[in-house]
Amino acid sequence: MKIHEYQAKDLISSFGIPVKKQILCYEAGQAELAYKELDREKVVIKAQVLTGGRGKAGGVKPAKSKEEAFTQAKNILGLTIKDFPVTKVIVTEAIDIESEYYISFVVDRHTKSVILMMCAEGGIEIEEVAAKNPEKILKFTIDPLVGLPDYLARKYAFVLFKEMTLVNQTAILLQKLYRLFIDKDASLAEINPLALTKQGELVIADAKITFDDNALYRHPDILALFEPTEDEKIEAEAKGKGLSFVRLDGEIGCMVNGAGLAMATVDMINLYGGSPANFLDIGGSSNPNKVIEAMALLLKDPKVKVVLINIFGGITRCDDVASGLLTAFKQLKTDIPVIVRLTGTNEKEGREMLSGGRFIIAKTMGEATHLAVEVSKK
Ligand code: GDP
Ligand code: MN
Repeated sequence: MKIHEYQAKDLISSFGIPVKKQILCYEAGQAELAYKELDREKVVIKAQVLTGGRGKAGGVKPAKSKEEAFTQAKNILGLTIKDFPVTKVIVTEAIDIESEYYISFVVDRHTKSVILMMCAEGGIEIEEVAAKNPEKILKFTIDPLVGLPDYLARKYAFVLFKEMTLVNQTAILLQKLYRLFIDKDASLAEINPLALTKQGELVIADAKITFDDNALYRHPDILALFEPTEDEKIEAEAKGKGLSFVRLDGEIGCMVNGAGLAMATVDMINLYGGSPANFLDIGGSSNPNKVIEAMALLLKDPKVKVVLINIFGGITRCDDVASGLLTAFKQLKTDIPVIVRLTGTNEKEGREMLSGGRFIIAKTMGEATHLAVEVSKK
């Protein structure tokens, strides 16, 4: 789960790391008032969207007067950044930046541990640095039993700074950020940039935190910050109905029993040159209501041109599934082509029940997938 910059900064602040005052605004008029309230000559207006790269997309702009704060906020509130419409901005004190640094803690699958990443060339080109000069990004594995005691925190802080006051400040920052990361079950806690001002002050200019979804049950305070995207709303609705659903962006709607088979189906569609509209595991039941709900989900997506139902009958018998499908489709009003592949227990009976009706019956998964890809390209 992602949170906004202003929420990340609030959380960071609650762990004892100082952040600059920020005022959240939903309208340009509020940004004008915020400018007055901050009482600084120069402020920055920043889009609050759940994606990075705001600076490059024009979502971070300075303002030197209340009028300018108004216009900049108005412009930014009209932007859509990587499919995220900007509905709110923060107004915050502008920082007189001398240099920018990168710091993050992230769960690293390769070393199966938390790693600390640091780079003396932080800022909006960090991806470029990662691609062209990966050696400039230093990575340190954190031993979970040792954590970040003072001597290690200082050692790592020396990677960025030589001057003792900056080293000490950075060491404390690293320790507090690591505590946040562990306490809140984060999967990423990133400060980019950590800014050094011309006056020698270290400032958290931007912060990004994501959390492990599977640990959210023990962090109601974090879960309360959840702002689902349209796709996530649909996924949550599906979850409530006992369906595992993930939206993809292709044309073939998939309805499959079992997560492994659902993944194999998505893979095979891709292999045969098609593109799946979703991953959908309806679980191991033949309940027609589940089929109705699953179909309703698939048909909500206007891109879906064909539906591929791929069922392996194990404990759930194919004839039961067939009868569920017949009941469900009596109620469903759609003429979208539906390809069914039934295999396993009582498959012959199941296929016979469905033949001669509105379904296109396939014997094998390969045949069914080929058919679905063909139909989707018509
Ligand atoms: P991002 O593009 O979404 O990562 O947004 P950031 O908050 O990191 O801002 C992008 C860039 O804008 C930063 O790397 C800075 O170079 C610049 N920036 C952001 N805030 C300020 C500020 O207060 N003063 C100055 N001088 N530059 C800023
Ligand atoms: Mn940034």
